[in-house]
Amino acid sequence: MLLCKAGGGRAPELADDGFPQNLSPRVVDESVAPISAASSQLASHRPNLRIPVDQCHHVTLEQPPVLFIFKIRLIGFKRIMRTRRELFHSSNMLNRKFFVHWFEKHGRAFPWRRASISPYAVMVTEILLRQTPAVSVAGIWKAFFCKYQNITDLARADKKRLTQFIAILGFGKMRSSALISAAKWIVQRYNGQIPADRSALLEIPHIGVYSANALLCFAFKQRVEIVDTNVQRFFSRYYSLDVKPDIRRNLIIWEIAKASLPGDKTLTKKHNYGLLDFAGEVCKAIKPRCSICPLVYSCKYGKRAIYKL
Ligand code: SF4
Repeated sequence: MLLCKAGGGRAPELADDGFPQNLSPRVVDESVAPISAASSQLASHRPNLRIPVDQCHHVTLEQPPVLFIFKIRLIGFKRIMRTRRELFHSSNMLNRKFFVHWFEKHGRAFPWRRASISPYAVMVTEILLRQTPAVSVAGIWKAFFCKYQNITDLARADKKRLTQFIAILGFGKMRSSALISAAKWIVQRYNGQIPADRSALLEIPHIGVYSANALLCFAFKQRVEIVDTNVQRFFSRYYSLDVKPDIRRNLIIWEIAKASLPGDKTLTKKHNYGLLDFAGEVCKAIKPRCSICPLVYSCKYGKRAIYKL
């Protein structure tokens, strides 16, 4: 198959005279530029000149942006697939029930982790937990739901009072406006019912990828991966990967998190809680506890840090 570099695509059909079919001289002049100065001049003097397809590889036209973006994405995708293949066939692939067992032994018991939590409580909790230690949120959690018992209460809340109520967590104004606008959106669009659909969740103001996945997993019991900065740090250390600070830009981490989910859907919640706790408590940002970590024999970072391997 003959490829034309000008467009990067399939070459047009050839006519009997060796020129592309259905290609008018006008089209040729605008879309297929001759490379050399001589041929440039020739083209300007002879507007009807057509370039045979077998010379297309000499042509250097600017690539259409759409094609360029597609190629960049293709390169990124191929790189992810290669890394994925390498990782998932490596000897240190994680046991998919490791975090379930770890959570059963060492997991933290917060009030929002009980089995029968409502989607409303999960959404509020996720907003309260942003940039805030979980123990601080636990301190006001029950009082919050006594005061704002359902999503309608929250949508109608007085912003000033709500800001004062959650001031102890920090970012009071930002957090209260996030809570109220998300609640209003759900009341207006979904009659107060939080949707169990990822794209609908992502349309809600102040609900990003992490919160949407947390809702799907913790409120709607779906088999969905969770990645926050702690989880990203853990996977990047464990598999020795270079990652960007913005978790949304590290597709490979999301791929790994997804591939690490247990096959049994009913274990997803425990697995994600275990992973979040382990990444926050053991694989800490500063001074990770490699010396007591049960994964030290398979973790690339741990092996280097402890055994100098
Ligand atoms: S060995 Fe160290 S770096 Fe690796 S997972 Fe454990 S705590 Fe984290």
